[in-house]
Amino acid sequence: MSRIAIIGAGASGLVCAIEASRKGHNVTLFEKNSKVGRKILATGNGKCNISNEKIHLERYHGESPSFAKEALRRFDTFTCKAFFRSLGLEMREGEEGRLYPMSHQASSVVDMLLHEVRALHVNIVLECEVTKIETKDAAFVLHINEKTDIFDACVIATGSVAMPTLGSSDSGYGFAKSLGHSVIEPYPSLVQFVCDEPHLKEVSGVKMDANVELYIDNQKCQSVQGDLLFTAYGLSGSAILDLSRKASHALVQGKSVDVVLDLLPNLSREALTSLLQKRLSVAKDKSLSLWLEGMIPKKLAHFIIENTKIAHLKEASALGVKEIKKIVFALKALRLHVKATKGFESAEVCAGGVDVSELDAKNLMSKKIANLYFCGEVLDIDGDCGGFNLHFAWASGYLVGQSL
Ligand SMILES: Cc1cc2nc3c(=O)[nH]c(=O)nc-3n(C[C@H](O)[C@H](O)[C@H](O)COP(=O)(O)OP(=O)(O)OC[C@H]3O[C@@H](n4cnc5c(N)ncnc54)[C@H](O)[C@@H]3O)c2cc1C
Repeated sequence: MSRIAIIGAGASGLVCAIEASRKGHNVTLFEKNSKVGRKILATGNGKCNISNEKIHLERYHGESPSFAKEALRRFDTFTCKAFFRSLGLEMREGEEGRLYPMSHQASSVVDMLLHEVRALHVNIVLECEVTKIETKDAAFVLHINEKTDIFDACVIATGSVAMPTLGSSDSGYGFAKSLGHSVIEPYPSLVQFVCDEPHLKEVSGVKMDANVELYIDNQKCQSVQGDLLFTAYGLSGSAILDLSRKASHALVQGKSVDVVLDLLPNLSREALTSLLQKRLSVAKDKSLSLWLEGMIPKKLAHFIIENTKIAHLKEASALGVKEIKKIVFALKALRLHVKATKGFESAEVCAGGVDVSELDAKNLMSKKIANLYFCGEVLDIDGDCGGFNLHFAWASGYLVGQSL
């Protein structure tokens, strides 16, 4: 039996603690927050999109995403369900293969994990920030609250810097660097866009199914159809989060980022033009905004009128071919400049992290220091929206726990 230190009682650290304890190790779990799994509680808007029926390597990114292959093979969706069922948690399937706890509550996931770590007599040390890790005679000396403690193996499960209000920090990257590891510079992913458009406030709160094209330095590089939410600062919604990794990376590199929105993706330009022309028959005595309101949300109607600069036309019946063209263009190809993302403060995950080429993919152990392991989001592996990030956290924690 070895003395194992796991730093971070988040998704990956909790699963790692369970597996390592099940193997008979003496496990201590250090957590700087006053409770375990704080970020898990915030996932999926409190419902926790725990995993996905369609876990596939293609949904993961980083300098070397194939590194995740072994972790995902050992902990596939079937194993994930079996693992949580062994804790007493049932799952249900939502749209696009997304898996959630049957209770609809993220707290059920944390409660089941916590119950199991307690039942396995894991030593859980809360409100305890590990500040330094040193190696001494093949052991690890952890500095905690001005004291030190010695362990045979050390697992860094500290997560990323995404959303620091939930307790995230860059300490994992610092530990990695101090122990001779490289860190790929992190940048925010699954994050909202800040746009340069003075009238966005007026359309704030409008949610639509839209097709969003991403342009980097004027080159179209990705297109996604899904939820789009206008906000006072810019754009949010699942379509934006899906595009955000590439956009965020481009912004970090100083490139120019734009999006082109098709707000009525199920109508071709021709069909929309002919619909607008037909609707001129009901335009009499109607203001432009009231006439447009027959087709699109009221706030969006005002926005389109401002954007197309046709407000001087008092009545919809005054619309000519030129104005109809402008409306079609604004609804089918609205171009907005993205000046920034909402940053780490609002990001769901970080791209970048500990360089996986310096770790063994079979067990996530350091190639530089024996018995030093990394799991979860601290690694340079990040997933798409849809349960892929939590799944990798569970899978990597599981792999390390089983390898100890
Ligand atoms: C708002 C939000 C919603 C999300 N929704 C989803 C979703 O629905 N589905 C999905 O798949 N993913 C989702 N994610 C992403 C997912 O939550 C993370 O990828 C996952 O939690 C990462 O697990 P982890 O164990 O690596 O890190 P974390 O869960 O962040 O755990 C790391 C832990 O380490 C602790 N820690 C850090 N440094 C120290 C230290 N020095 N000493 C002691 N303790 C330390 C932290 O306090 C933290 O508790 C969401 C993220 C956010 C922010």
